[in-house]
Amino acid sequence: VIEEGVPEHSVVTTCAYCGVGCSFEAQMKGDKLIRMVPYKGGDANHGHSCVKGRFAFGYATHKDRIREPMIRDSIDQPWRAVSWEEALEFSAKRLKGIQETYGRDSVGGITSSRCTNEETYLVQKLIRAAFGNNNTDTCARVCHSPTGYGLKTTLGESAGTQTFDSVMKADAILVIGANPTDAHPVFASMMKRRLREGAELIVADPRRIDLLKTPHAEKGLHLALKPGTNVALVNALAHVVITEGLEDKAFVAERCDTEGYQKWRTFIQEARHAPEVSEAETGVPAALVRTAARRYATAGNGAIYYGLGVTEHSQGSTTVMAIANLAMATGNIGREGVGVNPLRGQNNVQGSCDMGSFPHELPGYQHVANTEVRERFESVWNAKLDDEPGLRIPNMFDAAVAGTFKGLYVQGEDIAQSDPNTQHVEAALSALDCLIVQDIFLNETAKFAHVLLPGATFLEKNGTFTNAERRINRVRRVMPPVAGKEDWEVTQALSNALGYPMNYSHPSEIMDEIAQLTPTFTGVNYQRLEELGSIQWPCNDDNPIGTPTMHGVDFPIGKGHFAITEYVATEERTNRRYPLLLTTGRILSQYNVGAQTRRTANSEWHEEDVLEIHPVDAEDRGLKDGDWLGIRSRVGHTVLRCRVSDRMAPGVVYTTFHHPGSGANVITTDNSDWATNCPEYKVTAVQVEKVSQP
Ligand code: SF4
Repeated sequence: VIEEGVPEHSVVTTCAYCGVGCSFEAQMKGDKLIRMVPYKGGDANHGHSCVKGRFAFGYATHKDRIREPMIRDSIDQPWRAVSWEEALEFSAKRLKGIQETYGRDSVGGITSSRCTNEETYLVQKLIRAAFGNNNTDTCARVCHSPTGYGLKTTLGESAGTQTFDSVMKADAILVIGANPTDAHPVFASMMKRRLREGAELIVADPRRIDLLKTPHAEKGLHLALKPGTNVALVNALAHVVITEGLEDKAFVAERCDTEGYQKWRTFIQEARHAPEVSEAETGVPAALVRTAARRYATAGNGAIYYGLGVTEHSQGSTTVMAIANLAMATGNIGREGVGVNPLRGQNNVQGSCDMGSFPHELPGYQHVANTEVRERFESVWNAKLDDEPGLRIPNMFDAAVAGTFKGLYVQGEDIAQSDPNTQHVEAALSALDCLIVQDIFLNETAKFAHVLLPGATFLEKNGTFTNAERRINRVRRVMPPVAGKEDWEVTQALSNALGYPMNYSHPSEIMDEIAQLTPTFTGVNYQRLEELGSIQWPCNDDNPIGTPTMHGVDFPIGKGHFAITEYVATEERTNRRYPLLLTTGRILSQYNVGAQTRRTANSEWHEEDVLEIHPVDAEDRGLKDGDWLGIRSRVGHTVLRCRVSDRMAPGVVYTTFHHPGSGANVITTDNSDWATNCPEYKVTAVQVEKVSQP
């Protein structure tokens, strides 16, 4: 409750934190927000919410909000508050000057998974049509880009297969590299309900997560694998399925590419994938792997849920494909209670990928090299489009350091804090001639910016978010934007200043254009969203009210494709100098780098990030709770307080990254997924030693 009183009216909108996408009722007295209440009619949350979402309104009215545009000639000068017109003219002049001097490809932009579909669509349109290149990327690069690649390759669509409700029909729940209790709390409650009803639980995670404490699920299997060995473990599970004859032969024969399946079958049967062999790599006892494989394959409905513990690895894409192989081999695709379900960290990760944020794909995952696709966009956008994929975020950093990339527009993303190897990121940002940051707070990235454009919070805008179950939910404006413009209006104004005209008067018009150009969205519009409450894409002539369960009859690529998933050990190895493996995660009360939650009532529940270390490793080093620890990796050094905990196995340490001072990304390396460059945040070899207070 923000203020006591009887609400006069309410506005239904969507939480802007995690990928569950809970609906809330913003209860109003006049034009004043007095209460945020979980909305009973919400299709994703059915009236539930978590402690993050309930207090989210706090950051919208925080004193730190940027309330007016600001510019400066160089980053050693103080900020100067200016009008919108002056800030946009300044930005356009700089960007045009850079392109004249350094060429068309010397500028680019980064869209945000925090912003709406319409805003994200507009940023990539601005880059492709006004900048004239494909140097557009999204912060999904650093979280779920391997999901996009892996699921598209195997199942034909870059998206999870189920609704959240589907878990209520699961008989075995396999959670890999995810901690739903902390990161997706409302869905975790649903999962726990199903576990209490008797569904079997298997958790593959280096850390003993709270889900394993669920009453009636204490007998859940915990496969406490060594960080970086996901592929070896999932291959071992598949090996057991195949060698013990647990596969669903009818499903494979009818639904999958049988030639590819036979090749994969031969590969996965090899003795090197047997749990007894891979145990040396993964650290998971073979007998446990065999029990887990049998449990998943024979329970009835087997559902897989995974998170960043799968994707943020040098083999993130391979693990996603290995998971899809396992689900197809056991026939766990295409009906309720089964499936492959990526749990998206941010509210609109799915949407930012759907909206064409990646440098190789236009909206709807349509490749830029496809002439027919490009011509369709060119005709609607009235612009000539580049047929070459552009730069990914890490390539932008490298090019900036090399001096060939000079201008960057970043909407709603704190890359200086959230991307790996901070030193390299800062060197890149310092080398830019024009960094435009559009955000709600003066974040770490803004320290390197020449232009600050005030952003709007979810309470100040209209639009849509797409959650982890492909559900498009409406975001409705509750209060006016503090600086007078919603984010899509800022992008539109920048585009007009650059000379590429945009004339939308409401985000619904942007959605109409998205539907016109994106085959999986042709049935989506604001009127239908009002009628149906929400829509799960694909929504088109074939699926007029959307698609709760994907791949029920066939795959978008016809037959399901089995990929060969060779395990390649990460380069990030321990040795005498760096003997421990660091992995990272989140806690319930905080959200990502904490820019929002630290400015709400949630800040009281988590004052600092700490390093969790196993009692054996702590004793070896003479450490106790509360000691200050120096943590050194091959690329950097940070200091955190010690918490002794047996939730990880010996040899593994763990921290969160909710505070700028944690320095988690000062020590994470440049290693990344071979297919998508998603950083390997989850494996860093470190040394830990006691230090005096910093
Ligand atoms: Fe729901 Fe996630 Fe928001 Fe919590 S943070 S209220 S689970 S959308």
